[in-house]
Amino acid sequence: MMMRSTLLGGLLAFAVPVAALASDVPAAKACADDAGWNDPATPLHVYGNTWYVGTCGISALLVTSDEGHILIDAATPQAGPQILANIRALGFKPEDVRAIVFSHEHHDHAGSLAELQRATGAPVYARAPAVGVLERGKPDRGDPQFEVSEPIARVERVVTLADDGVVRVGPLALQAVASPGHTPGGTSWTWRSCEKQACHQFVYADSLTAISDDVYRYSDEAAHPGYVAAFRDTLARISALDCDVLITPHPSASQLWQRIGPGAKAALVDTRACRAYAQRATQRLDKRLADEAAPPAPSSP
Ligand SMILES: [Zn+2]
Repeated sequence: MMMRSTLLGGLLAFAVPVAALASDVPAAKACADDAGWNDPATPLHVYGNTWYVGTCGISALLVTSDEGHILIDAATPQAGPQILANIRALGFKPEDVRAIVFSHEHHDHAGSLAELQRATGAPVYARAPAVGVLERGKPDRGDPQFEVSEPIARVERVVTLADDGVVRVGPLALQAVASPGHTPGGTSWTWRSCEKQACHQFVYADSLTAISDDVYRYSDEAAHPGYVAAFRDTLARISALDCDVLITPHPSASQLWQRIGPGAKAALVDTRACRAYAQRATQRLDKRLADEAAPPAPSSP
């Protein structure tokens, strides 16, 4: 929080009235659950050292420390400038970002990784199945949405992370939770954020939806042996996580705008949220597999 504390120190030294300061800050604007992917969001303090720097439709988080920050997720190819502006608006410097991690290798979450890497100079960490996708700038047939996926700008400095790897910056430690299913390289992240009153275990859980292009079949074991079993392991892992605060790459998937920002009426903390999120995804996967097993519907005469 280097920049903030300096700023705050300066303000305190000159005893600027808090009300005058508050009137200079643009009022936070509420985001709608059905917001567009690139709709601009007011950056927000979530809790402790965790900040929201994404758009209204796609999440990005900044976890901060006096020794540098970690940026989680890069939204769409269009969102990079917004994310950088949001980081600056909160009083942080993009150059102080020392590591970039992300949820999964689709253009709506990895789209600005290359641009954010250029702006921050930070390495991007990815689990093995996502590394080649970032380096080539396009997915392969292992991705259920391969045929409909859009390319992303190629990322140059990708560090391969173990399935249970930890990304450390100064006192920060973000624990990776391998989350293959929605994509092969999907990764969730968990860390602890504290304020004076309490510490909360944050979970940034990856998308868990079993959706694909028209060709892919989750049940095709010959094409991708063990993939459904790995997906089920992901769901079990997410369900079992120590989880006080759930945030998802698509904010609406975890009702984020009901829990943070000016429209929020629900509590930030919900210790059942990860279990419920995994349960909904399990039902969707089960339905998807049942649909694949069902004989094709008779065509109407
Ligand atoms: Zn996706």
